[in-house]
Amino acid sequence: MTDVLPTVPSTEPAHPTVVIALDVGGTGIKSALVRPDGSTHHSERHPTGADRGPAEVVETILAVAEGLAGRARADGLAPVAVGIAVPGVVDQAAGVAVWSANLGFRDVPLRDLVTERLGLPSALGHDVRVGGIAEARLGAGRGDRYVLFVAIGTGIAAALTIDGTAFVGAHGAAGELGHIVVRPDGPTCGCGQIGCLEAVASAAAVGRRYTALAGSASTGDRVSAAEVVRRAAGGEELAGRIWQETVDALADGLLIAQALYDPAVVVVGGGLAEAGDDLLVPLRTALRARLTFHREPRLVPAALGDEAGCLGAALLALDTIGDLETGSADHIP
Ligand SMILES: [Zn+2]
Repeated sequence: MTDVLPTVPSTEPAHPTVVIALDVGGTGIKSALVRPDGSTHHSERHPTGADRGPAEVVETILAVAEGLAGRARADGLAPVAVGIAVPGVVDQAAGVAVWSANLGFRDVPLRDLVTERLGLPSALGHDVRVGGIAEARLGAGRGDRYVLFVAIGTGIAAALTIDGTAFVGAHGAAGELGHIVVRPDGPTCGCGQIGCLEAVASAAAVGRRYTALAGSASTGDRVSAAEVVRRAAGGEELAGRIWQETVDALADGLLIAQALYDPAVVVVGGGLAEAGDDLLVPLRTALRARLTFHREPRLVPAALGDEAGCLGAALLALDTIGDLETGSADHIP
């Protein structure tokens, strides 16, 4: 009689493996089946439907993940793990979405819920931090050990990655660059503080400030940050002034980040980064003017666009498998 090997949840080695990845945002869910080399086999987008309440959002997340597992098997692939990214405060070690204003989440044990439903190992991460992991390993930060990813969109957040792993913090809240106070006499931030970087230089703040000063608020037409950039490039005085204020505030924030983290490269992503050189060229100049002893980081645009979060969730899932295989429980440096 031959020895029976201890059974491990089958990864069906006869089939190529994929991981299931979800990036859950306030309005939409980006999801994909991702191969171990980081390439995408299949992707889907779904509405989040956050107005239905957190329980319904969780149910949608589980259903989308289940659907992708079924799709993988139908395509002759073996789904081996699930990675999920959410905004807000995330306790990655415990797999708990601690708090998310956009999703209405409070202490949702999402990782265990996914594992229960799908019977697969799962990982939960913060959307910007996993985006940073993806840019560091697969995108614009590839080849550098110390990468700071800065996402400038509706809000501002950052992720420090070292050797492709994100620094999480003791409470899952590291990287809140948007809530560094850069203008103590500035506008009130959504967090309650006055003069946070996010209150001055997020895409939402730029549009809001321009609209208010241009006097078009009364007509109800909110001018977008992208439009402010266009008008500034076209030589409009007000747009130019607001854009320079924005760049200066971002440079103040990046100077603090450089002093604290000394990254080799700063990868700028999020909606405002779509301004391209209209952002990066003056931002490099403004940051350089502020450096004293600091070494200047390379300031580069993100390479993965809005796929970064989903790819990063996949990388987290792949790390989980790696941890199981090597018996290592801790990925935090
Ligand atoms: Zn704030």
